Amino acid sequence: MEELRFECQPGCITCCDRYGYVYLTEDDLRRISAFLGMTEAAFEAKYIYRTKNQVRMRKPRKSECHFLLKRADGTGGCTVHSVKPVQCRTYPYWPELIEHREVWEHEATRCPGINKGEKLIQIGTALEIAEEMKSAYPWSYSWR
Ligand code: SF4
Ligand code: SF4
Repeated sequence: MEELRFECQPGCITCCDRYGYVYLTEDDLRRISAFLGMTEAAFEAKYIYRTKNQVRMRKPRKSECHFLLKRADGTGGCTVHSVKPVQCRTYPYWPELIEHREVWEHEATRCPGINKGEKLIQIGTALEIAEEMKSAYPWSYSWR
């Protein structure tokens, strides 16, 4: 691949509403708790599940993420958008999605912003963003 096209679609919440976990870095945890006006300890007690290597959001009962706003018309957004976790900010430029065209095209069936918009992203730029994913979640990429 030499270049990619992507433009997040207004009101779309497909990726936030998809089954899966939202993992955080320690920096994500600090930024989001500050944004919410909470101490890190209070934020962690309320929203975080931590294991030896991983920090992830707990899930609320009827949603995939505590910070996902879902409107009755099916649109919505992220209520911590300006400080959202690395995995949310870098999607869809994840290593596993951009390394092969067929994987990218398959992801386009799940994300309506892929292959949309005028802006072309050079593969070098996308790979730099993907490196941020590898640094943020090394346990997830250690096998690659
Ligand atoms: S699924 Fe794609 S278009 Fe929709 S919110 Fe996520 S990144 Fe944006
Ligand atoms: S933190 Fe925001 S962008 Fe990330 S999954 Fe939750 S609602 Fe979506």
